[in-house]
Amino acid sequence: MHTKKLKIIPLGGLGEFGMNCLAMRWEDDIIVIDAGLMFPESELLGVDIVVPDISYLIENKEHVRAIILTHAHMDHIGGLPWILNEIKVPVYATEFTLAYVEDNLEENQLLDETELVEIMPREKFTIGPFTIEPIRVTHSLVDAVSLAIETPVGIVIHTGDFKIDLSPLDDRPFDLHTFAEYGKRGVLALLQDSTNVERRGYTPSERAVIPRLDEVFSQTKKKLFFSCFSSSIYRIRIALDLARQHSRKVAIIGRSMMESTEIAQDLGYIEIPQGLVINPGQVRDYPPEQVMVLISGTQGEPMSALSRAAVDNHKHAHIDAGDTVVLSSRIIPGNEKSIFRVIDHLYRRDANVIYDDGSNGLIHVSGHGSQEEMRLLISLVRPKFFIPIHGNYGHLRRHAQIALETGAVEHAIVIEDGDVLELDKNDARKKDKVTAGRILIDSGSSIDVVEDLVIRDRRILSEDGIVLALLAINKRTGKLQQQPEVVMRGFGGADITDEARELVIKTLDGLSKEEKSDYGMVKEKVRVELKRLIQKTTGRRPMIMPVIMEI
Ligand SMILES: [Zn+2]
Ligand SMILES: [Zn+2]
Repeated sequence: MHTKKLKIIPLGGLGEFGMNCLAMRWEDDIIVIDAGLMFPESELLGVDIVVPDISYLIENKEHVRAIILTHAHMDHIGGLPWILNEIKVPVYATEFTLAYVEDNLEENQLLDETELVEIMPREKFTIGPFTIEPIRVTHSLVDAVSLAIETPVGIVIHTGDFKIDLSPLDDRPFDLHTFAEYGKRGVLALLQDSTNVERRGYTPSERAVIPRLDEVFSQTKKKLFFSCFSSSIYRIRIALDLARQHSRKVAIIGRSMMESTEIAQDLGYIEIPQGLVINPGQVRDYPPEQVMVLISGTQGEPMSALSRAAVDNHKHAHIDAGDTVVLSSRIIPGNEKSIFRVIDHLYRRDANVIYDDGSNGLIHVSGHGSQEEMRLLISLVRPKFFIPIHGNYGHLRRHAQIALETGAVEHAIVIEDGDVLELDKNDARKKDKVTAGRILIDSGSSIDVVEDLVIRDRRILSEDGIVLALLAINKRTGKLQQQPEVVMRGFGGADITDEARELVIKTLDGLSKEEKSDYGMVKEKVRVELKRLIQKTTGRRPMIMPVIMEI
């Protein structure tokens, strides 16, 4: 006899970091948890973002009932515009997450046509055969939830991202009680965040950075530039509090930082006293020791405010000798090169640079739980089946091992993107596979990441061609050693090679000496300019690869 099964189908984030997306299906009803993106590795030149292949959802369009989001990080919500372009379904999320989603959808002209539903911790809602309870968890940003999903074969808990911060800055505690209650009732499956599976012990509270940062504020005699992820609301709140205590006015620079602080202020997560914040243009009106600049760009993104300030190319952010720059964030693997390039520029300006290298004290803490927190949650929930999520294959395997060692789970099952896991009350097994993979998207701009969704899969890549711009730069003078070479392949029509070469020369002429020494920035500027020209004259969007040869 055919018995009905619950299907768990990860489409992103299992086997890699980022673009988290997971489908859950019962008969003809599908819900989707998270819709994330991934920022491309530097090898994927000309590509702005990476999103999961959602062929499975498109093929089953008429069955998809909703997308439910756990929190507002881009690796959980950034793929939304792309998915909503293909399938029109309501989006469920908490208040803060929805505020981010609204911004994101508005930029993509999807806001008006999308139904947004606000959810609250401890308030159950029902979608088809699923009854879902959001459970409050703590993370590096606010208003994050896990989801307890009642299905016809049992309860499935999806943790989203979490750490167990026992002294959260917003006094909204991790709801351990509810996890324990579910544990008592009996949980069929626990899907748990694996991000920090390699770290022993506990992840410190968001508060743990305060003492060292306070010290930095005390020791800084000139301007203080403070940079963190714009979504790290707690960190921003700490920086604002310290600025006030140390009698510094605050200028907020960088689009994402401004948007974030505005949302957080609107929703009551940060309080900005009258007179604390000044316009970026007013920085020069104050003595340096009375200013803090909150600035975006911790990962050395070539066009970010901090990267530009580092080469003295920002209208309002001028970094002078003796200023201090704090990078209160981690160095995301893959970004080392661009980050250290920015750090070098900052040192050349004779700034003091404080970043998370282990020797500068605790200026950053992770938003993800370490091993003991993972064990704790598993022990509370005591699921029959444990399924690690969010991580490389190796992380998932280790997490499964840790879960088994607690003695609190019966089985640990490692699945990857595209696997279909079928569950009933007693059994869980991998069945077939569905299409899964990465889709590369080129937005046409490095700043507005998802402004215009163009699919960059291989097929289109081969149709739209490729452009190489070869620049021979004299290391000593920073000047072009010879005429740049522009090679275009894969698209016929008008020959614009000469025009393109002229444009490259013009672009380089427009750069300051310092900008020229930053090859990341040179490449980015050349890429953006060429893209504009080619799109305008040919309507094509080829992959553009500037290559610099140092002579
Ligand atoms: Zn997160
Ligand atoms: Zn995440």
